[in-house]
Amino acid sequence: MTTAFVLTGGGSLGAVQVGMMAALQEQGVTPDVLVGTSVGAVNAAYLAGPGTSDGRLESLSRLWNRMRRRDVFAPHPQRWVGAVLGAAPSLFTEDPLRRLLQDNLGYAELEHARLEVHVTAADLVTGEAAILSAGPVVTAVLASAAVPGLLPAVTRDGRTLVDGAVGDVDALRHADACGVDEMYLLPAGYPCAGPAPVSAAGTALTSLSLVLHHQLLHQVREYRGRAALHVVPPLCPLVVSPADFSHAASLQNRARHATRGWLTQSASHAAEPDATALALHHHAGWDRPPQTAWAQSPQTEGPQSPHTGDPGAHLSTLKGLTA
Ligand SMILES: [Zn+2]
Repeated sequence: MTTAFVLTGGGSLGAVQVGMMAALQEQGVTPDVLVGTSVGAVNAAYLAGPGTSDGRLESLSRLWNRMRRRDVFAPHPQRWVGAVLGAAPSLFTEDPLRRLLQDNLGYAELEHARLEVHVTAADLVTGEAAILSAGPVVTAVLASAAVPGLLPAVTRDGRTLVDGAVGDVDALRHADACGVDEMYLLPAGYPCAGPAPVSAAGTALTSLSLVLHHQLLHQVREYRGRAALHVVPPLCPLVVSPADFSHAASLQNRARHATRGWLTQSASHAAEPDATALALHHHAGWDRPPQTAWAQSPQTEGPQSPHTGDPGAHLSTLKGLTA
């Protein structure tokens, strides 16, 4: 029995996937194949890891807990001026993320990873989807995470590559083609209960998260592969912006708890995959300051998750909504 994990994009919400994988690991569900897009590519490449060492998921969790926004999007006023004047292709450089990957992945080529790993990207010139399965891992992940306008495109094998969300890559079909028996889709989610983003990074990342969810909903509904597909429900309601990296620990904890609950509901992860968990929606009024009645009694007054049965344990996510 072989298993694939498919990890989608969502900026800082990639921490959610770590909590999901921790809950799956508790039940003995671990991947043989990893397919990642954007921040999902960061997680996939890290988890695929070098050598044969255990504890990779735990160290990924610690990496998320110490990661800050400047580790991906470092302020660079000179760059911002250049971007406005047409002298720079993006608001931020890829240098911080490149250093993060070089310092933490521990291997150089995708094909040298302990687990089979593939990352998705999109050709910015042709619009074609690209699946990267061999060659330098750092540039592959940088390409997959190159949010247009925020981070520069990556030139690789003669192609100009950006975030995999742009190319509408069918990661499910690709994972199925790897010949696995079971497949778990781990969506990073989007701030379905958050206010409209106010920063460039928040706007771009939230937009791509919505695009990815829309694609996933379609791909899950159209999935006819051989492998059994399980859709792990994303966190809902979720307030945290994909550009806010200060909630990694609480996102992981909440996702771990929610995924444990989902795993115990046999009907929710057996037989047909449940695409309804991915449907785009918004919780009106959820972004108000938490002084209303539901702040004391969220299970009865606040909006309820349409799919996870996880209405509480998220008040900490109401802080720091500046992105
Ligand atoms: Zn929701």
